Amino acid sequence: RHDPQGVAHFLEDESTKIFARKVADHYSARSNQTLEEREASPIIHLKKLNNWIKSVLIQLYARRGDAVLDLACGKGGDLIKWDKAKVGYYVGIDIAEGSIKDCRTRYNGDADHHQRRKKFTFPARLICGDCYEVRLDKVLADDAPFDICSCQFALHYSWSTEARARQALANVSALLRPGGIFIGTMPDANVIIKKLREAEGLTFGNSVYWVHFDEEFSDKKFKSSSPFGIKYTFHLEDAVDCPEWIVPFHIFKALAEEYDFELVFAKNSHEFVHEYMKKPEFVELMRRLGALGDGSPDQSTLSADEWEAAYLYMSFVLRKRGQPDKT
Ligand code: SAM
Repeated sequence: RHDPQGVAHFLEDESTKIFARKVADHYSARSNQTLEEREASPIIHLKKLNNWIKSVLIQLYARRGDAVLDLACGKGGDLIKWDKAKVGYYVGIDIAEGSIKDCRTRYNGDADHHQRRKKFTFPARLICGDCYEVRLDKVLADDAPFDICSCQFALHYSWSTEARARQALANVSALLRPGGIFIGTMPDANVIIKKLREAEGLTFGNSVYWVHFDEEFSDKKFKSSSPFGIKYTFHLEDAVDCPEWIVPFHIFKALAEEYDFELVFAKNSHEFVHEYMKKPEFVELMRRLGALGDGSPDQSTLSADEWEAAYLYMSFVLRKRGQPDKT
């Protein structure tokens, strides 16, 4: 039977899965770097800056004893940050099998890793799965509710379709307690679209990154198209080479409200640095991480190209509506 609509639907489903697999395979294939390799990376200071941003978010919002849900946890690069915040329980989920394996090794402390360390103080559960496809409230029924959920550098992978973007938010909303916090960092759509419009063609970038949009977006307007599925290819030297999707922030905020979230703040990474570098404890943290030389934002050790790449990202904090139980 000829059913053009059904076929189109099938094709869309298939291509969504193929792209999700592409993303998973890309991250799975990235092996752990040695300390020497890491320090030699052309984006080492950008990596350190991003670690600082994540640490600040965690220090601002995690509380001792919290149950943490880390969506798209990757290789567990944030485990130490959560440990420093003295959280009580950690669940990490990632679609990339290789990353979850590395995360498990890191958690167990037997990794041939640059930070050999004592065991983590909190129990953890590490799961391989697609956070934007699966109903996690069923998988994690025994672990919920969580006090805080984090999705770092990964939520944009859910914007390939409306169904996935909704599943991502539905999962976080269902698993957080009332008053629970959702923190994240993702590409800043406003910056990316502005740069695309200023570019001569459909590609822009510098020595550490490039972004390329397909011909179908050649009008650069996006007005008539759906806010979901706006795909581009992102290349970040020594880190990412993946299909990614634009997350128009005003639509994200409106959708989040549908799932009972209110916006606490959203800040581009540059603004984030300027704001939190006013606080001595975060200046000291920056100095320890070695991201900005002596800790002054004016004497940056980031190259100009790394600093421009940092501008592509923004962080957000959402709060789940309702009052926490008074216990
Ligand atoms: N959050 C980690 C961090 O900050 O170090 C990893 C960030 S990495 C840039 C993006 C991660 O998103 C990868 O580990 C990738 O496998 C994961 N990811 C992408 N799509 C996903 C999905 N549908 N479900 C779960 N994880 C996903």
